[in-house]
Amino acid sequence: MSAGPNEFDLIARYFTRPAPPGFLGVGDDCALLKHAPGYELATSTDLLIEGRHFFSDIDPKALGHKALAVNISDLAAMGAQPLACLLSLSLPDVDENWLRAFADGFYELAERTQCPLLGGDTTRSVAGVVINVTVLGQVKSGQALLRSGAKVGDDIWVSGTLGAADIALRLLQGRLPANNDLLKTIRHVLEWPEPPWAFAQSLVGVAHAALDISDGLMQDLGHILKASACGAELDYTALPLHPALQGLDAQLLQEAALAGGDVYQLCFTASPDQSARIQDLADQAQCRVARIGQIVAEPGLRVRGAGGALIELPAAGFDHFS
Ligand code: ADP
Ligand code: MG
Repeated sequence: MSAGPNEFDLIARYFTRPAPPGFLGVGDDCALLKHAPGYELATSTDLLIEGRHFFSDIDPKALGHKALAVNISDLAAMGAQPLACLLSLSLPDVDENWLRAFADGFYELAERTQCPLLGGDTTRSVAGVVINVTVLGQVKSGQALLRSGAKVGDDIWVSGTLGAADIALRLLQGRLPANNDLLKTIRHVLEWPEPPWAFAQSLVGVAHAALDISDGLMQDLGHILKASACGAELDYTALPLHPALQGLDAQLLQEAALAGGDVYQLCFTASPDQSARIQDLADQAQCRVARIGQIVAEPGLRVRGAGGALIELPAAGFDHFS
């Protein structure tokens, strides 16, 4: 960063929007923030690497949005309220148009979710863009929605729709025959995820267990089953497939819905007597929810199609080292 702006210029230009009253934001050695007594701090971090998590030519504004969204999704999965975030960026070179758009996408979501950017780090990378976001949130002590809370007899719910991010990714990677009309309709699901952060907070004290299904419904629900020592039966016909996917090959749809990743939505379990309340909370938050199955004692996951026949499950979701 010799001739152009230096590290401090970049921070000052793009990552120094004022922190809300009561917070100490960018500019000192640490950020300072308050959190309410009787609450636990919830924190999570995610790494996004060019060529692995995003295409080099991705719209930088979408990337700024998604870098924060995938972290807000982790807070949502615990029922936590966003408090603040930190952003570390490693860039191979300085492209100010890129940085401006990235910062706009990031701040737009940060403002909307009341999750102010309070600090970070900016360095030069050897190759490619690397982005690390850390979020801080709060949840009433002892009330966080854990993976281990599911109970036999619970309903299993998902928010949002399934399948679109996976199909969009396959289209962009050329793993499916080109279909520009479909890609146009569903691309935003992959690039502009909207985790249900407000709805998620309303599930505290209502749901028994929750997680986000960023690695695919089957694999992530598997984490709840393992942590809660139980099994699940899903009704495939109840899965909320994205409406634009109608007409795609049935096998492909099954794989996308059950194993497709990049879904920044919730899977949660709750007692059946909470179902009307959950539907109300979802309506209030303008969030789509679907009841897709039950928690059962017998371990393992079974998915039944129309008529109750068992569906052969696709290979599990994403794993960086498999
Ligand atoms: P340090 O020497 O402690 O690493 P820096 O000089 O790297 O501090 O950062 C100066 C200030 O700018 C700090 O408050 C830091 O949190 C903030 N900062 C650096 N990079 C970013 C970024 N990408 N986004 C937000 N804040 C940043
Ligand atoms: Mg630094």
